[in-house]
Amino acid sequence: LRASNSIIQKETGFINGLITVLHDITEQEKIDLERREFVANVSHELRTPLTTMRSYLEALADGAWQDDEIAPRFLDVTQTETERMIRLVNDLLQLSKMDSRDYNFYKNSVDFVEFFNKIIERFEMSKSQKVDFVRSMPNQEIFVSIDTDKITQVLDNIISNAMKYSPEGGTITFTVDIEEAANQILVSISDQGVGIPKSDLNKIFERFYRVDKARTRMLGGTGLGLAIAKEMIQAHDGDIWASSVEGKGTTIYFTLPISEEEQEGDWE
Ligand code: ADP
Repeated sequence: LRASNSIIQKETGFINGLITVLHDITEQEKIDLERREFVANVSHELRTPLTTMRSYLEALADGAWQDDEIAPRFLDVTQTETERMIRLVNDLLQLSKMDSRDYNFYKNSVDFVEFFNKIIERFEMSKSQKVDFVRSMPNQEIFVSIDTDKITQVLDNIISNAMKYSPEGGTITFTVDIEEAANQILVSISDQGVGIPKSDLNKIFERFYRVDKARTRMLGGTGLGLAIAKEMIQAHDGDIWASSVEGKGTTIYFTLPISEEEQEGDWE
């Protein structure tokens, strides 16, 4: 809301009233503001790796390239920053496709338990850090109608965050529950990491929002992972949210509607 005041004044100069008009900031103004913020964020996110690269390349050009020890390290930095920019641009393209609805979902009916386990196994194979994985899932098939590439991306984003913010020796718990009354599954991924302050809990799903900018940038994040996850879960008619206790850990939850078990066309 925005307020504007007018003073009611008689010809004699005597003030005998005050009118306050409250305007609703229009939807259009809000969209414009969001767009400006978004452009400012993107510019900032790209400027940071670019200025880093410029200074390392300058040092190399000034002679560091001749130093056998320094040159590979500096080149490594420029490579890491380039990769970060590629990730960022890919994430941005994905979001912009979703914004413009220029998006096709290729949904299939799949057993979520089997699908989820395969993804967890991939992380189990490649994890370098010492974290334990615990699974709690129903002993039965549960069919959901999903675009497996998109939901894989959602899970990759959530699980890689859980790994990033986990301490050495921490446990990550993967849970699937059936909520029959709502005809949906509730999926959760819990870690024992740093946690998120209460006031930030909803904001982590916003574009570019990071709780600790310096730290997450060091960990290579783009600040877009959960924003993409949210768009994709909502496009599947699900919800996504987080709960957390600072210093104790974080849980990300999402729901997906249960689909008919029969594959499309089976009834024909
Ligand atoms: P990023 O690429 O920075 O990880 P995300 O959109 O995936 O971006 O996450 C947004 C922010 O939410 C992160 O920068 C981090 O501050 C916070 N966050 C996400 N997951 C966790 C987690 N498991 N534990 C602690 N903080 C988290």
